[in-house]
Amino acid sequence: MVDFPALCILTDRQALPGILARIPPRKAPVTATTPPPAPTPEFPSPDPAIAPVPARPFSRRNRPVSFFDLPLATLEERVVALGGEKYRAKQLWGWAYDRLVPGYDAMTNVPAALRETLAADLPFGSMHLVREFMADDGETVKLLYQTFDGQFVETVLMLYPDRATVCVSCQVGCAVGCAFCATGMGGLTRNLTAGEIVQQTVDAARRAREMGRSLTNLVMMGMGEPMQNYAETMTFIGIINDHRGLNFGARRITISTSGIVPRIDALAKEPYQVNLAVSLHAPNDELRSRLVPINARYPISELLAACDRYIAETGRRISFEYALMSGINDSDEIAHELGRLLRGRLCHVNVIPFNPVEVLQFERPTVAGIDRFADILRAEGIPTTVRYSRGLDIAAACGQLRAKHEEERDRMAALPVAS
Ligand code: SAH
Ligand code: SF4
Repeated sequence: MVDFPALCILTDRQALPGILARIPPRKAPVTATTPPPAPTPEFPSPDPAIAPVPARPFSRRNRPVSFFDLPLATLEERVVALGGEKYRAKQLWGWAYDRLVPGYDAMTNVPAALRETLAADLPFGSMHLVREFMADDGETVKLLYQTFDGQFVETVLMLYPDRATVCVSCQVGCAVGCAFCATGMGGLTRNLTAGEIVQQTVDAARRAREMGRSLTNLVMMGMGEPMQNYAETMTFIGIINDHRGLNFGARRITISTSGIVPRIDALAKEPYQVNLAVSLHAPNDELRSRLVPINARYPISELLAACDRYIAETGRRISFEYALMSGINDSDEIAHELGRLLRGRLCHVNVIPFNPVEVLQFERPTVAGIDRFADILRAEGIPTTVRYSRGLDIAAACGQLRAKHEEERDRMAALPVAS
């Protein structure tokens, strides 16, 4: 029995009330009497492209179905029902997923009549790209979409010397409501459809190709909790993984989750060899429940047991994500506690220095503090990487861009209508 770990736990528990008191309360909900915020320098004036769209509420029956929602077999049926030959569906897939054309018009070996019928029956994408932002000397591109029901969705393309990664969103908002996350601040608005997630991927692949690159990796680390939109997430993966289309290798796909235990078990049994990232952020339940509220339902012991079952079933390594916040979860004691918790598992820790979010008072630790935390984990025997987020100057923390644009849309909605 070594004294040091016990001392660490004791010190940690003693420090905990002080740490918890520092976790800021969630932002008050915006009410009808809240005045609209003033324009900010990054978003100086209303843009007609993001004018409020006529309300077409999303519902189970009123959901957009676009070309990108359909697996190949379903597209074949649709093409035949519209009077085309079955083999045309493969041609359409070739144009959309291999040649990455932006619409039916470019599919020149498909009869014009069929293209017109398709355009009327099955839109080529249901979301409208409203803005594109560049950061990191053009190595980061952030795409902002508006959905048919007026929601904003963010996608980020990140170019590195050896790879190009897209970060896609799977929900508008998120029900989990982590204390440090811009996406979770307003709760869940709705799930995205598989087609809306595929469209983000295809657009990013096209954008990468325009920049002379190929899309190599995909992370589900944008807005939303993929495990709470499980069915659409699996359909999405099935479509992009299909070798007759985008042929995106499952091993190049990472699903990130806040820890929805039954879905981790379900994922372990899926045929796709995707990577799993688990957002841990704290080594004990007291702290984690404050940061990641779903922990109250699936505490750390259950979460790690599910991770162990996942590793045993798949033989694949799990990544644990750890958003590092100054004075909250970055002490030496917590680093040791985390090391002890994860020791012996087939895993890797990604330390993500906190991305500042307006209205949330969390702070990123210093570079020295970040390195120290990572070094302690490594000394505890845990493979650890520090991952700095891209595009800090374009509101990179997931959900921030959308929040800005919702403010702007609401401001525009409040303007008098010109007669
Ligand atoms: N809902 C999923 C995936 C989307 S969030 C999940 O929580 O895992 C992707 C990652 O970004 C998660 O690890 C999340 O905790 C982290 N994250 C969210 N807001 C952040 C912020 N402001 N700074 C650093 N990481 C953040
Ligand atoms: Fe949802 Fe993930 Fe944000 Fe938590 S971190 S609120 S689970 S998107």
